[in-house]
Amino acid sequence: MTISRPLKIYFLPFFAQGHLIPLVHLARLVASRGQHVTILTSPSNAQLFDKIIDDDTAAGHHIRVLIFEFPSDRLGIPSGVENISAASDNTTASKIYMAAHLIKPAIYSIISETRPDVFIPDIMFTWSAATAKQLNLLRIVFNPISIFDVCMIEAIKAHPEAFESDSGPYKIPGLPHPLTLPIKPSPGFASITEALVEAEKDSLGVIVNSFRELDDEYTEFYENLTGRKVWPIGPTSLMVQKTVKSSVSEEEHECLKWLSTKQNGSVVYICFGSMCTLSDEQLYELASGLESSGHQFLWVVHRKKTNDEGEGGEGKWLPSGFEDKMKKEDRGMLLKGWAPQPLILNHAAVGGFLTHCGWNATVEAISAGVPMITMPGFGDQYYNEKLITEVHGFGVETGAAEWSISPFEPKRTVVSAERIEKAVKKLLDGGDESVRVKSKAKEVKEKAWKAVQEGGSSYNCLTELIDQLQKLVLVAPATVSSHVD
Ligand code: UDP
Repeated sequence: MTISRPLKIYFLPFFAQGHLIPLVHLARLVASRGQHVTILTSPSNAQLFDKIIDDDTAAGHHIRVLIFEFPSDRLGIPSGVENISAASDNTTASKIYMAAHLIKPAIYSIISETRPDVFIPDIMFTWSAATAKQLNLLRIVFNPISIFDVCMIEAIKAHPEAFESDSGPYKIPGLPHPLTLPIKPSPGFASITEALVEAEKDSLGVIVNSFRELDDEYTEFYENLTGRKVWPIGPTSLMVQKTVKSSVSEEEHECLKWLSTKQNGSVVYICFGSMCTLSDEQLYELASGLESSGHQFLWVVHRKKTNDEGEGGEGKWLPSGFEDKMKKEDRGMLLKGWAPQPLILNHAAVGGFLTHCGWNATVEAISAGVPMITMPGFGDQYYNEKLITEVHGFGVETGAAEWSISPFEPKRTVVSAERIEKAVKKLLDGGDESVRVKSKAKEVKEKAWKAVQEGGSSYNCLTELIDQLQKLVLVAPATVSSHVD
């Protein structure tokens, strides 16, 4: 006789959009498979997705948001600033990272009182290993970066001799593909990720926002190296779009209306994620490069105004008259706020994506079949660039070559207007390279779409995950061990 009941599964997303968005997607997908889901979060972060959860609940899914207090007073930051994307400087951002540790007692008390069957925290909550052990709770970590990145990190650690030379490119040995890095990896990023990888150890495995066909060799490499199981369940944005029917539809954004006046594949979309603030010098070069490329563009600018700057401070970061000229020629739109990125990427007018190579941006572009122009800057972005350009070839590089530890850290070097112009033209001018890169983007999109369909690799992986958890929770007593099947 099969014992079956819905599992009580708790998700704990970290306080940054690139972490929160895919983990909330995953929670919704798990609820759509009949499990009882709780998302633990703070008040302001809850506001980012509570409407969509109401909608899922109305559709009959067992999903709720359980709110805990954000430690704003203890950290000395304004109330309501609870997400890295709301921080305007490094100090505030570091305090939000600290909050990840300060919430431990609150989460411990919620979990010990309400006893979920399974706990799925973001990898940033390194204390969750000890908490799960204390409470004899099944824990699986969610890693918002890719397994490919983790393999790069491991290979770099194992081969310090590869970085002896003063200048790049540096060949990275020991991986399934011959790969290069233009610059030495940031030591700060390596030590952060080591702590995170360490925290994966007592987990039943790692869930990633990916699909087998994208980085299967690296998944195997990681599993063999660590003995831990990987569940690639993604692209999560595509999976929710396909499987969780939602009636929440944003009113059509102005930028989408503008895109609808443009020819298919004619517009470059530019966005550097939810955290990066480029220096004014870099913004200026970017604007100049876009202008001289002659191509149309939709540019999302997340720029923080300096204290001494009033409304009219734009001359410092844009060539004089740039915005008016682009408007007059109907050639470019600047969007100074939150962009509906997945909708933009899926618009037929978008023919290329100039990106910082955040992991979510990468899988969202893959899902939409949009080829990329890569301009990485910090964290895992230089690794993702390699997956895009060297492993799969669905992007062209701008040649960015400064790896900062924080998105708020000003860079000493800028990617020149000429480099940006060259990369945009390479992708949109229709030469051999452009044809090759576009066809690769189409190929990988097809694989992603297959992966999320019923019977596809990500669809099946989610089924296997739930089946395995059901067995562990309901058939055998909970064991907090790590193993690969
Ligand atoms: N995003 C968005 N609108 C914006 C900026 C970002 O919707 O104006 C979303 C984007 O679609 C992605 C996430 O925020 O899902 C950013 O994650 P990513 O890993 O790409 O970059 P990060 O912000 O973590 O550097």
